[in-house]
Amino acid sequence: MNIVCISIGNELLNGEITDTNKRWLGRALHEAGYTLTEAITIGDDSARIRATIEYYIAGGYAIIATGGLGPTGDDITARAVAQAFRLRLVLNDEALVMVRGFFQRMGNPCPPGNEKQALLPQKAQVLENSCGTAPGFFLRHNDIPAFFLPGVPLEMQTMFARQVLPRLRTSVPAQENIPSKTLYTFGISEAELEQRLSRLHFKDQIQLRYRLDGPQVLVRIEALSGGIDALNSAGALIKHELGLFLLGEEPATLPEATASALCHSGLCLALAESCTGGLIAKLLTDQSGSSAFLERSAVTYANSAKRDMLGVSVQVLMQHGAVSRECAAAMASGIRQRAKTDIALAVTGVAGPNGGSAEKPVGTVFIALATAKGTEVRDFTFSGDRAAVRKYTAYAALDWIRRVALQQAPVSRIQ
Ligand code: ATP
Repeated sequence: MNIVCISIGNELLNGEITDTNKRWLGRALHEAGYTLTEAITIGDDSARIRATIEYYIAGGYAIIATGGLGPTGDDITARAVAQAFRLRLVLNDEALVMVRGFFQRMGNPCPPGNEKQALLPQKAQVLENSCGTAPGFFLRHNDIPAFFLPGVPLEMQTMFARQVLPRLRTSVPAQENIPSKTLYTFGISEAELEQRLSRLHFKDQIQLRYRLDGPQVLVRIEALSGGIDALNSAGALIKHELGLFLLGEEPATLPEATASALCHSGLCLALAESCTGGLIAKLLTDQSGSSAFLERSAVTYANSAKRDMLGVSVQVLMQHGAVSRECAAAMASGIRQRAKTDIALAVTGVAGPNGGSAEKPVGTVFIALATAKGTEVRDFTFSGDRAAVRKYTAYAALDWIRRVALQQAPVSRIQ
């Protein structure tokens, strides 16, 4: 059976609020073995709410609507639903007891405006709202359920679990959940990923879906047949094919994967950050246990800081500039010598929007990595605004550290 989610509220259309209810319901339904067929957002417009509900009744959809059940003048869902179902709007005694009871528990008298929340379509069954004042309600059209819930996410979510799902199960059969898992990757585009994994020739048993999540690409593996065994063997083949592009199974972000690789390698790290202003250290220290591998991070913005804290020579700064391969290399080796760590990474670049030149446009970034074997510098040109350039720089740095940690056995520390 088709299911539609209808989100109601002007604030969802004018950009004031993101429609998180739709997303939450889509996922909750999916986890319960249902597929959300359509989702629509409409404003506080009585005629439009009525027409939308009439449309989905005519199409035989199960309906889950949220919003517009509050006490204020723009909360018009119940009246519009009554019109769509050709029912009268009446004072529902059970709902009135619930609304009054909510205020009683708070030790306050029930304002008259809130009593209006007990005006519901005549044949509606009341759905208790244990977290707020607005009762939800439930109707049927040709035995197909229609649920009307408050918009406040916590209230809606609690009611979905306690009131909606049990009723939905009795009238709409759930499908068996398709075994699935998500793999997180970094450093490979969606197109490259698809091309690489197409070599595995899974036929119809396995379905792969790709999704961008910031700079990471997610691969969702669904076993359409063969159950969990088919899923696991496909997962193993894909992991092997992905090699170092693979960060892990959900949830796995690049900072988490980097922290985990550093922990397992036993390597100790120092950072010297210019254009990222401490972002790399922030992303790593977001992970608990980071003190095991991060010795220090220096934010060295000015030339004087690069000189005093990292020992970058005046000659390098004068001859090549602060944004240069030479400066990045000197920053990395300088912090490594001072911190006495296995590895040290440094970044310097032009995050923009100002400061770019023909030779070094905005987005130019140099990243250097120093180990006992020497110092390597890589150059990048990132696009986007200041925040994007900083984020891509931090992610490129983290990925380099992660790969080194995964590939290298612990190296001896500087004496
Ligand atoms: P109540 O009277 O309990 O507030 P209600 O049904 O009147 O319930 P609304 O007035 O429509 O709810 O919304 C109340 C608040 O809930 C909104 O201001 C918004 O913060 C949040 N909200 C509503 N709908 C959504 C939605 N689809 N996604 C995320 N938040 C929402």
